[in-house]
Amino acid sequence: MKETNQYLEQHMGITPETIRIVAEAEAEVKPLFEKREEIKEYNQYKVLRAMQEARLSDQHFHWHTGYGYNDPGREKTEEIFAAVFGAENALVRPNIVNGTHALSLALAGNLFRGDSLLCVTGAPYDTLHEMIGIAGEYPGSLIEMGVRYRQIELTESNTLDRHAIEEKIREEAPTMVYFQRSTGYSFRPALTMEDLSGTIEWIKKNWPQVMVMVDNCYGEFLEIREPIDAGADVMAGSLIKNPGGGIALTGGYVVGKDQYVMRAADRLTTPGIGKECGLTFGTTRSVLQGLFLAPLIVSEAIKGAILAARVFEKAGCKVQPHWQDPRSDIIQGVQLNNPEEVKAFCLGVQAAAPVDAYVTPIAWDMPGYQDPVIMAAGAFVQGSSIELSADGPMRPPYNVYFQGGLTYPHAKFGVMKALDSLKKIR
Ligand SMILES: *Cc1c(COP(=O)(O)O)cnc(C)c1O
Repeated sequence: MKETNQYLEQHMGITPETIRIVAEAEAEVKPLFEKREEIKEYNQYKVLRAMQEARLSDQHFHWHTGYGYNDPGREKTEEIFAAVFGAENALVRPNIVNGTHALSLALAGNLFRGDSLLCVTGAPYDTLHEMIGIAGEYPGSLIEMGVRYRQIELTESNTLDRHAIEEKIREEAPTMVYFQRSTGYSFRPALTMEDLSGTIEWIKKNWPQVMVMVDNCYGEFLEIREPIDAGADVMAGSLIKNPGGGIALTGGYVVGKDQYVMRAADRLTTPGIGKECGLTFGTTRSVLQGLFLAPLIVSEAIKGAILAARVFEKAGCKVQPHWQDPRSDIIQGVQLNNPEEVKAFCLGVQAAAPVDAYVTPIAWDMPGYQDPVIMAAGAFVQGSSIELSADGPMRPPYNVYFQGGLTYPHAKFGVMKALDSLKKIR
Protein backbone atom coordinates (compact mmCIF):
# COMPACT_ATOMS: atom_id res chain seq x y z
CA MET A 1 0.00 0.00 0.00
CA LYS A 2 1.31 3.40 -0.98
CA GLU A 3 0.64 4.97 2.43
CA THR A 4 2.48 2.18 4.22
CA ASN A 5 5.51 2.50 2.00
CA GLN A 6 5.54 6.26 2.47
CA TYR A 7 5.32 5.75 6.20
CA LEU A 8 8.19 3.27 6.16
CA GLU A 9 10.34 5.68 4.19
CA GLN A 10 9.45 8.90 5.99
CA HIS A 11 9.12 7.72 9.58
CA MET A 12 10.85 4.35 9.88
CA GLY A 13 14.01 5.08 7.92
CA ILE A 14 13.70 2.35 5.27
CA THR A 15 15.38 3.15 1.94
CA PRO A 16 13.21 3.25 -1.21
CA GLU A 17 15.42 0.57 -2.79
CA THR A 18 14.76 -1.87 0.05
CA ILE A 19 11.05 -1.10 0.03
CA ARG A 20 11.03 -1.93 -3.69
CA ILE A 21 12.98 -5.21 -3.35
CA VAL A 22 10.84 -6.40 -0.43
CA ALA A 23 7.62 -5.53 -2.25
CA GLU A 24 8.76 -7.51 -5.29
CA ALA A 25 9.71 -10.50 -3.15
CA GLU A 26 6.45 -10.31 -1.25
CA ALA A 27 4.42 -10.45 -4.46
CA GLU A 28 6.29 -13.64 -5.40
CA VAL A 29 5.90 -15.41 -2.07
CA LYS A 30 2.29 -14.42 -1.29
CA PRO A 31 0.76 -17.47 -3.02
CA LEU A 32 2.63 -19.70 -0.53
CA PHE A 33 0.88 -18.03 2.40
CA GLU A 34 -2.33 -19.83 1.49
CA LYS A 35 -0.87 -23.16 2.63
CA ARG A 36 0.23 -21.60 5.93
CA GLU A 37 -3.34 -20.40 6.51
CA GLU A 38 -4.64 -23.95 6.12
CA ILE A 39 -2.13 -25.39 8.59
CA LYS A 40 -2.86 -22.58 11.03
CA GLU A 41 -6.56 -23.25 10.88
CA TYR A 42 -6.18 -27.01 11.44
CA ASN A 43 -3.86 -26.50 14.40
CA GLN A 44 -6.12 -23.85 15.90
CA TYR A 45 -8.98 -26.33 16.04
CA LYS A 46 -6.68 -29.00 17.48
CA VAL A 47 -5.71 -26.71 20.37
CA LEU A 48 -9.27 -25.49 20.89
CA ARG A 49 -10.61 -29.02 21.03
CA ALA A 50 -7.99 -30.07 23.59
CA MET A 51 -8.99 -27.15 25.83
CA GLN A 52 -12.71 -27.83 25.51
CA GLU A 53 -12.37 -31.56 26.09
CA ALA A 54 -10.24 -30.93 29.17
CA ARG A 55 -13.04 -28.65 30.46
CA LEU A 56 -10.57 -25.84 31.00
CA SER A 57 -12.02 -23.27 33.34
CA ASP A 58 -11.12 -20.12 35.23
CA GLN A 59 -10.13 -22.04 38.37
CA HIS A 60 -7.21 -23.55 36.44
CA PHE A 61 -5.53 -20.17 36.26
CA HIS A 62 -5.03 -20.08 40.03
CA TRP A 63 -2.24 -21.82 41.83
CA HIS A 64 -1.38 -23.53 45.03
CA THR A 65 1.49 -23.05 47.46
CA GLY A 66 3.92 -25.36 49.21
CA TYR A 67 4.15 -28.84 47.75
CA GLY A 68 1.50 -28.20 45.15
CA TYR A 69 -0.30 -31.51 45.57
CA ASN A 70 -3.15 -31.87 43.08
CA ASP A 71 -2.58 -28.41 41.66
CA PRO A 72 -5.55 -28.21 39.27
CA GLY A 73 -3.98 -25.68 36.87
CA ARG A 74 -0.77 -27.66 36.54
CA GLU A 75 -2.63 -30.89 35.91
CA LYS A 76 -4.94 -29.28 33.37
CA THR A 77 -2.03 -27.69 31.51
CA GLU A 78 -0.29 -31.05 31.23
CA GLU A 79 -3.49 -32.79 30.13
CA ILE A 80 -3.96 -30.21 27.36
CA PHE A 81 -0.36 -30.42 26.13
CA ALA A 82 -0.62 -34.21 25.97
CA ALA A 83 -3.83 -33.98 23.93
CA VAL A 84 -2.48 -31.36 21.51
CA PHE A 85 0.65 -33.38 20.80
CA GLY A 86 -1.14 -36.73 20.59
CA ALA A 87 0.73 -38.04 23.63
CA GLU A 88 -0.21 -40.22 26.60
CA ASN A 89 1.33 -37.87 29.11
CA ALA A 90 3.04 -34.49 29.44
CA LEU A 91 5.34 -32.65 31.77
CA VAL A 92 4.97 -28.87 31.39
CA ARG A 93 6.63 -26.79 34.06
CA PRO A 94 7.93 -23.29 34.72
CA ASN A 95 10.94 -24.81 36.51
CA ILE A 96 12.05 -26.51 33.31
CA VAL A 97 14.37 -23.61 32.60
CA ASN A 98 14.75 -23.97 28.82
CA GLY A 99 14.60 -26.36 25.90
CA THR A 100 17.99 -27.85 26.75
CA HIS A 101 16.72 -28.70 30.22
CA ALA A 102 13.54 -30.32 28.84
CA LEU A 103 15.57 -32.42 26.40
CA SER A 104 18.08 -33.42 29.04
CA LEU A 105 15.30 -34.53 31.42
CA ALA A 106 13.97 -36.86 28.75
CA LEU A 107 17.49 -38.13 28.00
CA ALA A 108 18.84 -38.51 31.53
CA GLY A 109 15.52 -39.82 32.81
CA ASN A 110 15.51 -42.65 30.31
CA LEU A 111 19.13 -43.62 29.76
CA PHE A 112 21.13 -45.57 32.30
CA ARG A 113 24.55 -47.17 32.72
CA GLY A 114 25.21 -49.57 29.86
CA ASP A 115 22.55 -47.99 27.62
CA SER A 116 23.38 -46.56 24.26
CA LEU A 117 22.17 -43.37 22.58
CA LEU A 118 22.27 -43.09 18.79
CA CYS A 119 21.79 -39.64 17.29
CA VAL A 120 20.88 -39.97 13.61
CA THR A 121 20.78 -36.30 12.57
CA GLY A 122 24.45 -35.42 13.02
CA ALA A 123 25.67 -33.56 16.08
CA PRO A 124 22.81 -32.53 18.33
CA TYR A 125 22.17 -28.89 19.19
CA ASP A 126 25.20 -27.11 20.68
CA THR A 127 23.83 -26.76 24.21
CA LEU A 128 23.44 -30.54 24.55
CA HIS A 129 27.11 -31.32 23.98
CA GLU A 130 28.11 -30.91 27.64
CA MET A 131 25.05 -32.80 28.79
CA ILE A 132 25.85 -35.74 26.55
CA GLY A 133 29.57 -35.42 27.22
CA ILE A 134 30.86 -34.87 23.69
CA ALA A 135 32.37 -31.45 24.41
CA GLY A 136 35.19 -32.87 26.49
CA GLU A 137 34.70 -34.70 29.77
CA TYR A 138 31.91 -33.11 31.71
CA PRO A 139 31.01 -34.21 35.24
CA GLY A 140 27.56 -35.73 35.32
CA SER A 141 27.27 -36.03 31.55
CA LEU A 142 25.55 -39.05 30.04
CA ILE A 143 28.88 -40.47 28.92
CA GLU A 144 30.38 -40.07 32.38
CA MET A 145 27.34 -41.86 33.80
CA GLY A 146 28.12 -44.83 31.59
CA VAL A 147 25.89 -44.23 28.55
CA ARG A 148 27.48 -44.92 25.15
CA TYR A 149 26.99 -42.30 22.48
CA ARG A 150 27.09 -42.80 18.73
CA GLN A 151 26.24 -40.36 15.98
CA ILE A 152 25.33 -40.70 12.31
CA GLU A 153 25.62 -37.79 9.91
CA LEU A 154 22.92 -36.95 7.41
CA THR A 155 23.68 -37.92 3.81
CA GLU A 156 25.19 -35.40 1.43
CA SER A 157 21.70 -34.50 0.29
CA ASN A 158 20.73 -33.91 3.95
CA THR A 159 18.46 -36.91 4.25
CA LEU A 160 18.46 -39.55 6.97
CA ASP A 161 21.05 -42.20 6.16
CA ARG A 162 18.98 -45.39 6.51
CA HIS A 163 21.86 -47.57 5.45
CA ALA A 164 24.13 -46.25 8.21
CA ILE A 165 21.28 -46.25 10.71
CA GLU A 166 20.54 -49.91 10.05
CA GLU A 167 24.21 -50.82 10.39
CA LYS A 168 24.58 -48.96 13.69
CA ILE A 169 21.37 -50.33 15.14
CA ARG A 170 22.58 -53.86 14.40
CA GLU A 171 26.03 -53.11 15.80
CA GLU A 172 25.09 -51.08 18.86
CA ALA A 173 21.57 -52.24 19.74
CA PRO A 174 20.87 -48.68 20.93
CA THR A 175 18.43 -48.02 23.73
CA MET A 176 17.34 -44.78 22.12
CA VAL A 177 17.46 -43.31 18.62
CA TYR A 178 17.46 -39.53 18.70
CA PHE A 179 16.33 -37.11 15.96
CA GLN A 180 16.70 -33.35 15.86
CA ARG A 181 13.92 -31.97 13.70
CA SER A 182 15.18 -28.41 13.33
CA THR A 183 18.30 -27.07 11.68
CA GLY A 184 20.11 -25.90 14.83
CA TYR A 185 23.34 -24.13 13.96
CA SER A 186 23.86 -26.13 10.79
CA PHE A 187 22.86 -25.25 7.25
CA ARG A 188 20.51 -28.08 6.43
CA PRO A 189 16.77 -28.11 5.93
CA ALA A 190 14.66 -29.20 8.89
CA LEU A 191 13.42 -32.78 8.72
CA THR A 192 9.88 -32.77 7.42
CA MET A 193 7.22 -34.83 9.16
CA GLU A 194 7.20 -37.03 6.06
CA ASP A 195 10.95 -37.83 6.41
CA LEU A 196 10.61 -38.29 10.13
CA SER A 197 7.53 -40.47 10.11
CA GLY A 198 8.86 -42.73 7.35
CA THR A 199 12.05 -43.42 9.27
CA ILE A 200 10.38 -43.73 12.66
CA GLU A 201 7.89 -46.24 11.24
CA TRP A 202 10.74 -48.22 9.70
CA ILE A 203 12.66 -48.28 13.00
CA LYS A 204 9.58 -49.28 14.98
CA LYS A 205 8.76 -52.05 12.53
CA ASN A 206 12.23 -53.59 12.55
CA TRP A 207 13.43 -52.80 16.06
CA PRO A 208 10.31 -52.28 18.18
CA GLN A 209 12.34 -52.26 21.41
CA VAL A 210 14.21 -49.08 20.43
CA MET A 211 12.92 -45.91 22.02
CA VAL A 212 12.59 -42.95 19.64
CA MET A 213 13.09 -39.41 20.85
CA VAL A 214 12.73 -36.16 18.89
CA ASP A 215 14.11 -32.71 19.69
CA ASN A 216 11.06 -30.79 18.53
CA CYS A 217 12.38 -27.28 19.29
CA TYR A 218 11.11 -24.79 16.67
CA GLY A 219 9.02 -27.49 14.98
CA GLU A 220 5.68 -27.17 16.78
CA PHE A 221 2.68 -26.27 14.60
CA LEU A 222 4.68 -26.17 11.38
CA GLU A 223 2.66 -29.05 10.04
CA ILE A 224 -0.62 -30.61 11.07
CA ARG A 225 1.13 -33.64 12.57
CA GLU A 226 3.78 -33.71 15.27
CA PRO A 227 6.51 -36.32 15.89
CA ILE A 228 4.44 -38.21 18.48
CA ASP A 229 1.70 -38.63 15.85
CA ALA A 230 4.40 -40.17 13.67
CA GLY A 231 5.31 -42.76 16.28
CA ALA A 232 8.02 -41.06 18.36
CA ASP A 233 7.98 -42.17 21.99
CA VAL A 234 8.99 -38.90 23.55
CA MET A 235 9.76 -35.34 22.46
CA ALA A 236 10.64 -32.10 24.16
CA GLY A 237 10.83 -28.38 23.52
CA SER A 238 10.84 -24.88 24.93
CA LEU A 239 7.88 -22.69 25.83
CA ILE A 240 9.68 -19.52 24.76
CA LYS A 241 9.73 -20.87 21.23
CA ASN A 242 6.72 -21.95 19.15
CA PRO A 243 4.31 -23.52 21.65
CA GLY A 244 4.37 -20.56 24.03
CA GLY A 245 2.96 -18.32 21.32
CA GLY A 246 5.09 -15.41 22.53
CA ILE A 247 3.01 -15.22 25.70
CA ALA A 248 4.57 -17.87 27.96
CA LEU A 249 7.22 -16.29 30.18
CA THR A 250 9.33 -19.39 30.71
CA GLY A 251 9.21 -23.17 30.75
CA GLY A 252 9.63 -26.33 28.77
CA TYR A 253 7.71 -29.47 27.98
CA VAL A 254 8.27 -33.18 27.63
CA VAL A 255 5.47 -35.23 26.05
CA GLY A 256 5.16 -38.84 24.98
CA LYS A 257 4.52 -42.32 26.31
CA ASP A 258 3.48 -42.37 29.92
CA GLN A 259 6.49 -44.30 31.26
CA TYR A 260 9.04 -42.05 29.55
CA VAL A 261 7.38 -38.83 30.68
CA MET A 262 7.20 -40.19 34.23
CA ARG A 263 10.92 -40.95 34.13
CA ALA A 264 11.64 -37.41 32.96
CA ALA A 265 9.46 -36.12 35.81
CA ASP A 266 11.43 -38.25 38.29
CA ARG A 267 14.56 -36.54 37.00
CA LEU A 268 13.01 -33.07 37.41
CA THR A 269 11.82 -33.74 40.95
CA THR A 270 12.86 -37.09 42.39
CA PRO A 271 11.89 -40.76 42.06
CA GLY A 272 8.77 -41.26 44.11
CA ILE A 273 7.61 -37.67 43.63
CA GLY A 274 7.55 -37.39 39.84
CA LYS A 275 4.75 -35.14 38.61
CA GLU A 276 2.94 -34.97 41.94
CA CYS A 277 4.64 -31.83 43.23
CA GLY A 278 5.73 -28.48 41.89
CA LEU A 279 4.15 -25.08 41.72
CA THR A 280 3.13 -23.15 38.64
CA PHE A 281 3.43 -19.69 40.22
CA GLY A 282 0.49 -18.30 38.30
CA THR A 283 1.94 -19.20 34.91
CA THR A 284 -0.84 -21.50 33.69
CA ARG A 285 -2.91 -18.67 32.21
CA SER A 286 -0.08 -17.34 30.08
CA VAL A 287 1.15 -20.80 29.10
CA LEU A 288 -2.31 -21.84 27.94
CA GLN A 289 -3.16 -18.53 26.31
CA GLY A 290 0.18 -18.77 24.53
CA LEU A 291 -0.60 -22.31 23.39
CA PHE A 292 -3.98 -21.09 22.14
CA LEU A 293 -2.30 -18.35 20.07
CA ALA A 294 0.64 -20.48 18.96
CA PRO A 295 -0.82 -21.75 15.65
CA LEU A 296 -1.42 -18.12 14.59
CA ILE A 297 1.93 -16.82 15.82
CA VAL A 298 3.88 -19.66 14.21
CA SER A 299 2.09 -18.99 10.93
CA GLU A 300 3.03 -15.29 11.08
CA ALA A 301 6.66 -16.16 11.84
CA ILE A 302 6.81 -18.63 8.96
CA LYS A 303 5.43 -16.10 6.50
CA GLY A 304 8.23 -13.78 7.64
CA ALA A 305 10.81 -16.54 7.16
CA ILE A 306 9.59 -17.25 3.62
CA LEU A 307 9.81 -13.55 2.79
CA ALA A 308 13.31 -13.38 4.29
CA ALA A 309 14.41 -16.34 2.13
CA ARG A 310 13.31 -14.60 -1.07
CA VAL A 311 14.65 -11.18 -0.13
CA PHE A 312 18.14 -12.35 0.88
CA GLU A 313 18.36 -14.63 -2.11
CA LYS A 314 17.67 -11.57 -4.25
CA ALA A 315 20.43 -9.81 -2.32
CA GLY A 316 22.85 -12.52 -3.48
CA CYS A 317 23.02 -14.63 -0.30
CA LYS A 318 22.84 -18.39 -0.04
CA VAL A 319 19.72 -19.19 1.93
CA GLN A 320 18.45 -22.31 3.66
CA PRO A 321 15.67 -23.24 3.07
CA HIS A 322 14.72 -21.69 -0.28
CA TRP A 323 11.50 -19.76 -0.29
CA GLN A 324 9.64 -22.52 -2.13
CA ASP A 325 10.99 -25.41 -0.04
CA PRO A 326 8.81 -27.26 2.46
CA ARG A 327 9.21 -25.96 6.03
CA SER A 328 9.44 -27.95 9.20
CA ASP A 329 10.86 -25.31 11.54
CA ILE A 330 10.63 -21.53 11.79
CA ILE A 331 14.31 -20.92 11.07
CA GLN A 332 15.61 -19.07 8.04
CA GLY A 333 19.34 -19.52 7.50
CA VAL A 334 21.19 -16.83 5.57
CA GLN A 335 24.83 -17.25 4.66
CA LEU A 336 26.91 -14.08 4.88
CA ASN A 337 30.50 -13.39 3.89
CA ASN A 338 32.26 -12.34 7.09
CA PRO A 339 31.76 -11.47 10.77
CA GLU A 340 31.07 -7.83 9.91
CA GLU A 341 28.10 -8.84 7.80
CA VAL A 342 26.77 -11.05 10.60
CA LYS A 343 27.02 -8.07 12.97
CA ALA A 344 25.33 -5.76 10.47
CA PHE A 345 22.49 -8.23 9.88
CA CYS A 346 21.90 -8.64 13.62
CA LEU A 347 22.15 -4.89 14.17
CA GLY A 348 19.38 -4.43 11.61
CA VAL A 349 17.12 -7.00 13.27
CA GLN A 350 17.80 -5.46 16.68
CA ALA A 351 16.88 -2.02 15.35
CA ALA A 352 13.54 -3.46 14.24
CA ALA A 353 12.57 -4.53 17.77
CA PRO A 354 9.85 -3.04 19.99
CA VAL A 355 12.16 -3.42 23.02
CA ASP A 356 15.83 -2.36 23.16
CA ALA A 357 15.83 -1.23 19.53
CA TYR A 358 18.59 1.24 20.32
CA VAL A 359 21.18 -1.23 21.61
CA THR A 360 23.99 -2.84 19.63
CA PRO A 361 24.18 -6.61 19.88
CA ILE A 362 27.67 -8.00 20.44
CA ALA A 363 28.93 -11.57 20.32
CA TRP A 364 29.51 -13.22 23.70
CA ASP A 365 30.40 -16.59 25.19
CA MET A 366 26.95 -17.87 25.96
CA PRO A 367 26.73 -20.82 28.36
CA GLY A 368 26.52 -24.07 26.41
CA TYR A 369 27.86 -22.77 23.09
CA GLN A 370 31.34 -23.51 21.75
CA ASP A 371 31.89 -20.24 19.86
CA PRO A 372 30.89 -16.69 20.70
CA VAL A 373 27.29 -16.18 19.61
CA ILE A 374 25.71 -12.92 18.52
CA MET A 375 22.01 -12.47 19.16
CA ALA A 376 19.63 -9.77 18.09
CA ALA A 377 16.67 -9.97 20.39
CA GLY A 378 14.59 -7.03 21.41
CA ALA A 379 11.90 -9.15 22.93
CA PHE A 380 9.20 -8.80 25.56
CA VAL A 381 10.42 -12.12 26.96
CA GLN A 382 14.19 -12.33 27.31
CA GLY A 383 15.68 -14.72 24.77
CA SER A 384 12.31 -15.59 23.28
CA SER A 385 12.99 -16.67 19.72
CA ILE A 386 9.38 -16.95 18.61
CA GLU A 387 9.66 -13.17 18.82
CA LEU A 388 11.62 -11.55 16.01
CA SER A 389 15.25 -12.47 16.49
CA ALA A 390 18.46 -13.37 14.71
CA ASP A 391 21.52 -15.14 15.94
CA GLY A 392 24.61 -16.86 14.76
CA PRO A 393 27.84 -18.34 16.04
CA MET A 394 30.88 -16.25 15.05
CA ARG A 395 32.54 -18.91 12.94
CA PRO A 396 32.79 -19.63 9.23
CA PRO A 397 30.72 -20.08 7.12
CA TYR A 398 29.01 -17.13 8.86
CA ASN A 399 25.48 -18.36 8.87
CA VAL A 400 22.95 -16.18 10.55
CA TYR A 401 19.59 -17.56 11.65
CA PHE A 402 16.54 -15.37 11.34
CA GLN A 403 13.40 -16.43 13.11
CA GLY A 404 10.19 -15.41 14.75
CA GLY A 405 8.02 -12.37 14.63
CA LEU A 406 4.78 -12.22 16.56
CA THR A 407 3.18 -10.50 13.58
CA TYR A 408 4.02 -10.80 9.91
CA PRO A 409 4.44 -7.02 9.45
CA HIS A 410 7.01 -7.06 12.24
CA ALA A 411 8.97 -9.92 10.66
CA LYS A 412 8.82 -8.02 7.37
CA PHE A 413 10.15 -4.91 9.05
CA GLY A 414 13.00 -7.01 10.47
CA VAL A 415 13.85 -8.17 6.95
CA MET A 416 13.89 -4.57 5.71
CA LYS A 417 16.08 -3.32 8.55
CA ALA A 418 18.52 -6.22 8.16
CA LEU A 419 18.79 -5.63 4.42
CA ASP A 420 19.35 -1.90 4.82
CA SER A 421 21.96 -2.50 7.50
CA LEU A 422 23.75 -5.06 5.34
CA LYS A 423 23.71 -2.79 2.31
CA LYS A 424 25.38 -0.02 4.31
CA ILE A 425 28.58 -2.05 4.70
CA ARG A 426 28.55 -3.87 1.36
C1 LIG B 1 16.70 -23.81 20.90
C2 LIG B 1 17.02 -25.22 20.66
C3 LIG B 1 17.41 -26.07 21.68
C4 LIG B 1 17.69 -25.61 23.08
O1 LIG B 1 16.76 -24.79 23.58
P1 LIG B 1 17.11 -23.65 24.66
O2 LIG B 1 15.75 -23.23 25.06
O3 LIG B 1 17.87 -22.59 23.95
O4 LIG B 1 17.86 -24.29 25.75
C5 LIG B 1 17.64 -27.38 21.39
N1 LIG B 1 17.50 -27.84 20.14
C6 LIG B 1 17.13 -27.06 19.12
C7 LIG B 1 17.00 -27.63 17.76
C8 LIG B 1 16.88 -25.72 19.35
O5 LIG B 1 16.51 -24.93 18.35
